[in-house]
Amino acid sequence: MDTPSPGAPAVAGNASLAARDLKHVWHPCTQMHDHDIALDSRVPMLPIVRGEGAWLIDADGRRYLDGISSWWTNLFGHANPRIAAALADQARRLEHVIFAGFTHQPAIELAEELVRITPPGLSRVFFADNGSSAIEVALKMSFHYWLNQGRGHKTRFIALTGSYHGETLGALAVSDVALYRKTYAPLLLTPILAPSPDTYEGEPGESPAAVAARRLGELRVLLERHAHETCAVIVEPLVQCAGGMRMYHPDYLAGLRRLCDEFAVHFIADEIAVGFGRTGTMFACEQADVAPDFMCLSKGLTGGTLALSAVLTTEDVYAAFYAEYNAGKAFLHSHSYTGNPLACRVALETLAIFRDEPVLERNRALAEHLGARLAPLRDHPHVADVRQTGMIAAVELVADKRSREPWPAAERRGLRVYLHGLEHGALLRPLGNVVYFMPPYVVDTGEIDHLVDVATAGIEAAVA
Ligand SMILES: *Cc1c(COP(=O)(O)O)cnc(C)c1O
Repeated sequence: MDTPSPGAPAVAGNASLAARDLKHVWHPCTQMHDHDIALDSRVPMLPIVRGEGAWLIDADGRRYLDGISSWWTNLFGHANPRIAAALADQARRLEHVIFAGFTHQPAIELAEELVRITPPGLSRVFFADNGSSAIEVALKMSFHYWLNQGRGHKTRFIALTGSYHGETLGALAVSDVALYRKTYAPLLLTPILAPSPDTYEGEPGESPAAVAARRLGELRVLLERHAHETCAVIVEPLVQCAGGMRMYHPDYLAGLRRLCDEFAVHFIADEIAVGFGRTGTMFACEQADVAPDFMCLSKGLTGGTLALSAVLTTEDVYAAFYAEYNAGKAFLHSHSYTGNPLACRVALETLAIFRDEPVLERNRALAEHLGARLAPLRDHPHVADVRQTGMIAAVELVADKRSREPWPAAERRGLRVYLHGLEHGALLRPLGNVVYFMPPYVVDTGEIDHLVDVATAGIEAAVA
């Protein structure tokens, strides 16, 4: 073997890299015991050395179609040449600079562009460096807005059942996915939970719009009781992703906007997963023609290249903090890497791709193809629901189709789909019993066919 040049990765296969990884690295969202080499049900630790479009290539040269956009971040393919060139160019000019008292062109241009493309009224941009941090910023800013207005008794938040807003303590507090929240509950603020408008949880035969209307009625009752102590209602517009890709009707967002105005509480739209074209429109809120008071963005913001997030808010919110220094009204929140120039530059290039190419139009055709290919699964004896919003599709597996009794979580049926996928060249990572598809926008119809074929065979293996 040749001696690698300095800085170039050494040539090593899957087995040796995985063994070295497992000696020291602790992975997120993982019971590390699953990777124990002695286990029959062993989950492989896969070293990826290269990405190419929608594909990931491991150290043994095996290829996996990234059906989940690497945790919903990737939009335009791995190692996208256009994004890589922008990143390299920026790295040679300015990699980072303190963002208090200093600024730079990538952040300025990105703020201008985000204000231009988001719903009207959002004119102020606060940067942070990941999705959870953006949620922390929005929660603190909403509370602090009311405090600065002399309404410091507003200290609570309303969140939807089944919601997920991240895993730092504040973001986790307003989340309702037991897997992530239950253990840490003693450390968390207690949110007021409003029933999710999730169509799957509706009454048999109830239309998505009817579920939304009924849930708005229930939200109104909560607001009548709690608005005086509530800062904001926080929601994931249209799709509750980590909660199992549960989907709901846009009417709920329109009604939520009206209720927030009526009861003087903020509307926080967490578009971290659904923003940037995922649901068919650039932002999910557009489908209800609403503008929230806060919009949180991350994940696709950089095309899946670097960690960056942004919170957009209104002139009204901004003005509540704007005062002579000694009034003590300034917003206090800072991360060392706030507004990182590399991340901002890559985000600008991502948004430029949206301007230069007919992305949403192409996605419509891809989404239609995906939906058509998944439709036959509706008849499967262990599938209770096949649902789709734009470039997110999900298949709900159940033990019993009629009663919709789920498989017991301990059986880990979804994990069987995951393992089947890896053996057959596809990265599918079911959320419990929900097998979902959230591919990068650069997939073609043949690649969608591959994902659906592998998933279908994986489902057969999982329910056997
Ligand atoms: C992923 C996600 C977050 C958290 O973002 P991180 O960057 O993982 O901290 C918050 N909200 C939603 C809706 C998400 O999907």
